[in-house]
Amino acid sequence: MSTKRNNPETIAIHGGDYKSDPATNAVAVPIYRTTSYQFNNTEHAANLFALKEFGNIYTRIMNPTNDVLEKRVAALEGGLSCVTVSSGQTASSFAILNVAQAGDNIVSSTDLYGGTVSLFTHTLSKLGIEIRYADPSDPKNFEKMVDDKTRAFYGETLPNPYLRVFPIKEVSDIGRKYNIPLIMDNTASPVICKPIEHGAAIVIHSLTKYIGGHGTAVAGSIVDSGNFDWTADPKRQPLFNEPDASYGGVIWGKAVPELTGANVPFAVRARVCLLRDLGSALAPDNAFAIIQGLETVALRMKQHCENAEKVVNFLKKHKEVTKVIYSTEHNKPIADRAKKYLRGGYGPMVGIELKGGIEAGKTFIESLKMFYHVANIGDVRSLAIHPASTTHSQLNEKELAASGVTQSYVRLCIGIEHVDDIIEDLNQALNKSSKGKLRAVS
Ligand code: PLP
Repeated sequence: MSTKRNNPETIAIHGGDYKSDPATNAVAVPIYRTTSYQFNNTEHAANLFALKEFGNIYTRIMNPTNDVLEKRVAALEGGLSCVTVSSGQTASSFAILNVAQAGDNIVSSTDLYGGTVSLFTHTLSKLGIEIRYADPSDPKNFEKMVDDKTRAFYGETLPNPYLRVFPIKEVSDIGRKYNIPLIMDNTASPVICKPIEHGAAIVIHSLTKYIGGHGTAVAGSIVDSGNFDWTADPKRQPLFNEPDASYGGVIWGKAVPELTGANVPFAVRARVCLLRDLGSALAPDNAFAIIQGLETVALRMKQHCENAEKVVNFLKKHKEVTKVIYSTEHNKPIADRAKKYLRGGYGPMVGIELKGGIEAGKTFIESLKMFYHVANIGDVRSLAIHPASTTHSQLNEKELAASGVTQSYVRLCIGIEHVDDIIEDLNQALNKSSKGKLRAVS
């Protein structure tokens, strides 16, 4: 019998050091709805602020409910420390703002969630942080864009709509030659991929999606692997090697390992500087909802992936479908990356292009009876959307082409309903989709 406590099914329920609430022995994680925490005395208060002692100060920066979630997400990803934040968007913003300042650049994959593209191209550029885009089909594209102001590489494990698995180890290895950390967004592939095992330094999630799983709360997380040497090249990572005037001149790269015994300056700086200054704290009520979802994430991912594979086989044979996009349905070497990086399933998302183009796509979505037509991904329910007119509608033609969204592309997030019911719904909607084409022509 396996007693390995690092199985994801077990971590999701028991990960971190929470057994029961220390104050009440409650087994379910209590929602600590408090903004503040009583200091024992003035020395205790001063020590907490000076980071000489670790403990609760104020819920914008930490909270005991969030703490349980943070420890579990860190354990699930095989990292050392985690900071939860108010959304996945905050997680990606903080991950960049924690390493880069005006004049610096980040080299990012072109295969990104549309909201991340907007954040990078519009908001971060206005703050003076340049995002350079590299096509991940060839990892060497990342190296070509490095200069002495490059502070991090950024990628998504299983980005939609292309659903091409990111070459994590290949890009991480390039980064480590230059002391550049790889930040991975693992939102679409918790449990089935652990980017840290392949060299990622930082892993972020929109917990809103598969980890929460039920579409009930918006949340994000940033995991620090503890595997990156932030002090190896002080010029490369100034934010971790120069005195921080906002915190009494502390040098984060040196001080955090000394104070905590763990190499997690990225997580500590994100918490005590970015949450302190920018807010975006996760409400403990939402942390509770995400903790409940997290408990079943391993089970759900298995079912999502199993159903998705059956759906792919069905769609490949359907007369109205011209193309099926799935992590394993690519040419080599891209398809091999799915086998190399994903374990226990090839992902829950499937893309299709329809014979009848955009009009057929719209009729198809409107004809679905069980699927929900929503912007979200990662719900127990099956979901469908037409990205070109919704999630990716703020991208220009060039950005759309780079992100792989065609006008007729429909994204499906396969839920955990019985697969026969999923296929039946798809089949009846696909059979109606050609009528949309005829209607458009007439
Ligand atoms: N990253 C990915 C891959 C996403 O799909 C999303 C949202 O769809 C986000 C980040 C942003 O997450 P949130 O909606 O929680 O802000």
